[in-house]
Amino acid sequence: MSIIFEKMALIGVGLIGSSIAQAARAKNIVGQISVATRRQITLDEAISINIADSYSLSSAEAVRDADLVVLCTPVGASEAIMKEIAGSLKPGAILSDVGSVKGHVQNVIGPLVPKGVHFIPGHPMAGTENSGPLSGFAELFEGRWCILTPTENTDEGALTNLKNFWIALGSQIEIMDANHHDLVVAITSHVPHLVAYNIVGTVDDMETVSKSEVIKFSAGGFRDFTRIAASDPVMWRDVFLTNREAVLEMLGRFLEDLSVLQRAVRVGDGDALEELFMRTRDIRRSIIDAGQEIDEVDFGRTNAPSKEVKREDN
Ligand code: NAP
Repeated sequence: MSIIFEKMALIGVGLIGSSIAQAARAKNIVGQISVATRRQITLDEAISINIADSYSLSSAEAVRDADLVVLCTPVGASEAIMKEIAGSLKPGAILSDVGSVKGHVQNVIGPLVPKGVHFIPGHPMAGTENSGPLSGFAELFEGRWCILTPTENTDEGALTNLKNFWIALGSQIEIMDANHHDLVVAITSHVPHLVAYNIVGTVDDMETVSKSEVIKFSAGGFRDFTRIAASDPVMWRDVFLTNREAVLEMLGRFLEDLSVLQRAVRVGDGDALEELFMRTRDIRRSIIDAGQEIDEVDFGRTNAPSKEVKREDN
């Protein structure tokens, strides 16, 4: 493929930043890659897998002369980082991010963007429950959607370049208004995470079932919640702090529906239960048909232990 950006800077080099660096290199679509992160331990991990051309603990230094800057840090860190890099951004550069919440990012970063810099927020709908540079991989974005949330003032040429970048990484693009994005992900991602954190937390607090029983008999559904509930605590704290309204709206709908289900269980309404479970099975089939999940027994798990990335600092 041909070079889309001469220099790309990634601020934050965890799962998403590391995956972008590795994918952009594999596809040969950027000339140089500079990365910055907050802690030396993370920088050392990034260096150990050679994902960039230059490494720094200074975000301002990393973005110098970059044509594309992507913030790959938790959403709550966006404003402080933006204040640090604003004066070092190259005129004409594209500034984007990968944050899971878009309204908040638009509100806090938008006013700090220098004139002549094109700010186009983004959100790759791809991820795993692992964190840190070592958890990244070049294929993460293959076949996944990347949502971009430009405004009516966004420069068309800059938008086309950013779209081409994500397409080259293997993604499909959807353009959306930031607030609509936040509602969509509230129900498809944020509330499911909250439910998983809650179920796993409830089990952890239980006195009548021992922890060893929970671990021993976890195959029956609980285990799949624990995968989601193992997601990065800081990233998810920031998601719920910055997408509060949309999450509360969707959580309200969820709780209403849960009450209906509770009643069906209490009164023994088998027809209602079966009708719902048929509909939900169809949804899973549609997700498989859309290529967003694999059609394998037990989510494609084998008995072999999976590759797990352990970080000593976590
Ligand atoms: P991650 O693996 O935990 O990496 C986070 C990176 O941000 C690290 O380089 C970390 O630096 C840095 N960082 C954390 N707090 C910071 C702060 N206060 N100031 C400056 N830098 C800070 O996270 P990730 O999974 O890549 O997520 C990054 C972003 O992608 C988040 O906004 C998230 O919402 C979004 N996202 C995540 C997923 C997913 O499934 N994980 C999917 C789509 C989008 P140090 O390690 O040096 O402290």
